[in-house]
Amino acid sequence: MQLDMNYSKQRELILYEIKKSKCHPTAFEIYNELKPGNPALSLGTVYRNLKLLSTENKIIKLATPSGPDRFDGNTDEHYHYYCISCSKVCDADDIKASDISKIFNNPKQKIVGYELNILCICEECNKNNIDVSNYK
Ligand SMILES: [Zn+2]
Ligand SMILES: [Zn+2]
Repeated sequence: MQLDMNYSKQRELILYEIKKSKCHPTAFEIYNELKPGNPALSLGTVYRNLKLLSTENKIIKLATPSGPDRFDGNTDEHYHYYCISCSKVCDADDIKASDISKIFNNPKQKIVGYELNILCICEECNKNNIDVSNYK
């Protein structure tokens, strides 16, 4: 069916767009990037496909402390720096999964899981001396 083909093609496009991006785009950024070449694409379709792709674990949805959700095409275990000023999300390449696994070595207590959110003022914002005194 023509309609189904279009749906899966759009999903592929969206997945490709996220995989090639290094900057963890938002739904809106993905839409803006794809729209010129795909005039039939709607923002609702982007949202729907992002939801589907993250349910299928093909992408990871990242909730940010101060902005819209972002999406990551790298599904390997890795960590992120969240900029509290511009909401940019960067991969924390300097933190290895093996570093984190050390927390499981404590024999006195049983670690059942963890959440790691590293909040930062990114290089760019830091250079611009962004005022974050209002941030709590
Ligand atoms: Zn920033
Ligand atoms: Zn990432």
